[in-house]
Amino acid sequence: MRGYRMSAIQSVKCPQCKKEAPLAGNPNRPFCSERCKMIDLGVWATEGYRIPGEKAPQSDDEDDEPVKG
Ligand SMILES: [Zn+2]
Repeated sequence: MRGYRMSAIQSVKCPQCKKEAPLAGNPNRPFCSERCKMIDLGVWATEGYRIPGEKAPQSDDEDDEPVKG
């Protein structure tokens, strides 16, 4: 009779999505997936996933325009 328990699979919480990710056979550990790893590494930002540039000044910005009339 074996007293060895195989149910003790090591897992870790993905730092990105907080999901339980297996450690065994997981090349992306401690992340659950490559995607989470990429996100954490900030690859998204360098891959061209950039936020659109600064918003163009809205018409709210009123300059001292000469009053017509
Ligand atoms: Zn994840």
